[in-house]
Amino acid sequence: MVPVVELKEVTQVYVTDREATLAIDRISLTVNPGEFVSLVGPSGCGKTTILSMIAGLLHSTTGEVKVHGTNVQGPSPTVGYMLQQDYLFPWRTIADNVCIGLELTGQLTAQLRDYTLQLLEEMGLSNTAQLYPHQLSGGMRQRVALVRTLATNPDLLLLDEPFSALDYQTKLQLEDLIVETMKQHQKTAILVTHDLSEAIAVSDRVIVLERNPGRVRKEFVIPDGIRQAQPFYAREQEGFNQLFHNVWKELEATERRES
Ligand code: ADP
Ligand code: MG
Repeated sequence: MVPVVELKEVTQVYVTDREATLAIDRISLTVNPGEFVSLVGPSGCGKTTILSMIAGLLHSTTGEVKVHGTNVQGPSPTVGYMLQQDYLFPWRTIADNVCIGLELTGQLTAQLRDYTLQLLEEMGLSNTAQLYPHQLSGGMRQRVALVRTLATNPDLLLLDEPFSALDYQTKLQLEDLIVETMKQHQKTAILVTHDLSEAIAVSDRVIVLERNPGRVRKEFVIPDGIRQAQPFYAREQEGFNQLFHNVWKELEATERRES
């Protein structure tokens, strides 16, 4: 089985005119087909840097970054990247916003437009196609952004804190929706989040990173009982609180290490 994502001894050094920062120090990680992996860690530990390298927006300084067994050279339609901010175009309708990826890559056909509008329906946004972004709530806009990411049919999704600007209830609903959509469409996902309980509730594995420089500190495999429950109910499963505590302790240790 070829992993969907493979990082081998990857480093990333940011060079500015004043200094060089070792942002990522020899990180290796593998994500297998259909897996949902979360990255957690203190601000500045390199989570966004890792996603940007996988997305092909940034070249690693040393080491190998592979997607589907091939060295990443640049952005690819098989990889979808969803950011914290929805970046919808205010002057375009929702329908035209979700089709933009297809448009830009010259793939927009009537059939794919229909497929995309159907995804809107699946996400509970059936009556929004002709509306504009400002007419939607934050949670709805994030769902639109998710549809836009899924429209080009990437099989790997990179999600950089997509829920962090949302209220708690909306966030819980979106977690369920994303996990269900990923499973149904057999996608692989890497989620960056600040929220430990979210990471545990949605993932197969949680990777804790430390910073200065960014390294993998510890990896937690989520037990079946929690993994198989819908994220909302995962939080009530036996062992959830203990696991939360263990992940939290690792994170806390990354802070202690620095002080
Ligand atoms: P995270 O997403 O975990 O908060 P980032 O990947 O954004 O972390 O950043 C990791 C480290 O790299 C931080 O020390 C940050 O200041 C530095 N960094 C990120 N982007 C740049 C850049 N474009 N130029 C210089 N330093 C950067
Ligand atoms: Mg970040």
